[in-house]
Amino acid sequence: MNLPYAEPYKTKMVEYIKPSTLEERKKWIAEAHYNLFNLTSDKVFIDLLTDSGTGAMSDKQWAEMMLGDESYAGSQSYLKLKDVVERITGFPFFLPTHQGRAAENVLFSVLVKEGDVVPGNAHFDTTKGHIEFRKATALDCTIDEAFDTIIHHPFKGNIDTAKLEDAFSNNPNERIPFVVLTVTCNTAGGQPVSMENIKEVSRICKKYNTPLIIDAARFAENAYFIKIREKGYEDKSIKEISRELFSYADGMTMSAKKDGLVNMGGFIALRDEELYKQATVFNIMYEGFLTYGGMNGRDMGALAVGLDEATEFDYLETRINQVAFLGEQLVKHGIPVIQPFGGHAIFLDANKFVPTIPRDEYRAQALAIELYIEGGIRGVEIGTILADRDPFTHKNRYPELELVRLAIPRRTYSLNHMRYIAAVLKKIYDTRDQAKRGYRIVDEAPIMRHFTVKLEKISPEPTK
Ligand SMILES: *Cc1c(COP(=O)(O)O)cnc(C)c1O
Repeated sequence: MNLPYAEPYKTKMVEYIKPSTLEERKKWIAEAHYNLFNLTSDKVFIDLLTDSGTGAMSDKQWAEMMLGDESYAGSQSYLKLKDVVERITGFPFFLPTHQGRAAENVLFSVLVKEGDVVPGNAHFDTTKGHIEFRKATALDCTIDEAFDTIIHHPFKGNIDTAKLEDAFSNNPNERIPFVVLTVTCNTAGGQPVSMENIKEVSRICKKYNTPLIIDAARFAENAYFIKIREKGYEDKSIKEISRELFSYADGMTMSAKKDGLVNMGGFIALRDEELYKQATVFNIMYEGFLTYGGMNGRDMGALAVGLDEATEFDYLETRINQVAFLGEQLVKHGIPVIQPFGGHAIFLDANKFVPTIPRDEYRAQALAIELYIEGGIRGVEIGTILADRDPFTHKNRYPELELVRLAIPRRTYSLNHMRYIAAVLKKIYDTRDQAKRGYRIVDEAPIMRHFTVKLEKISPEPTK
């Protein structure tokens, strides 16, 4: 019999989190205008707002912080990081940036111009933002299965190659500066992309002489899914799979706050020296000199260690299985969640969870608020509030799905915390029929309203 897996680390330091009472939380969330972004962290017991920059660093990463070389030019920490990036990705040219969107900003400053079309698989919002900001179009070519919450497809992040071919036949070649492939696909719920799909996308890109750029924030988690789900990769190491994955691409942007296992950082890595040279100009203007690019020396050192740790199988096995453990507990309770589970988060399906709350009363937000009030757990609405109003009609845009995302920080919470979250959700689910009314907006910004929106609870009794 195989032994069960266990975390390949133990605790050296603990960070206390503060329990609170139901009454306190009711008061705090009302003071926060029912917007979870307005809560200070001391009022949150388990924080699942994001997995970005919220993970725990290892003792080796902290040790490397002490060795940080803060030289303006030619930092030793930069050299360490450059070596690791090249070893793990195979890309010889490398530029540090302060986070993932900064990498996008620098690279897209070279590549994207007005009127361009950038095909990809459900572009992440900052990626889309940096494309649209340059008056270009982010064209979503994800497979249709990605939008079905129940269907079991092992690689729901895949690009539909027919849609990609169409993109190339419908647009002049010079209008498509590159294709961006996001692994795992965050916007589609942390769903992975298969190696076969990456190869096929790469083949199409080569046919049209167009570079393929990987948005690599969760590349190690994607490599894990390839290892356990794709034939032919069972016996390959995560590092071998990662190398192969990047071998089909021309470059990458990285948010190191995810699979870099650091709290802040990012980078660009490229195969082509000419493109690298062009990007250095923007890196110096926007980020900093080539050998720090907006990062402290110590942070580059910690990232060098983090990339190595994130590409170890044992770590990934506990990481992905912890997320799945939470998902399985919820499924056991009959709670509607998106399946198969993504790599970094579980998504509650609010349309099925609280169909009793009208859509124009923000049912996913109502569920997220209930989760906070009941258990001090902070998730995030991915629904109508996030979708914003139509810029022309100013009417609410109702997305197909109303979700609450529970993103799990890396190496941070225990399985017991997962059990606690599942128990709180079961309690809410058991009394879901009583949920009749949601919230109304009393104040909102013209765009990106979710960060600052103020809400008011709608009284359960019809108002006279
Ligand atoms: C987080 C993320 C980014 C942006 O990175 P930041 O470090 O938050 O700026 C880009 N793409 C994906 C897929 C991400 O998850």
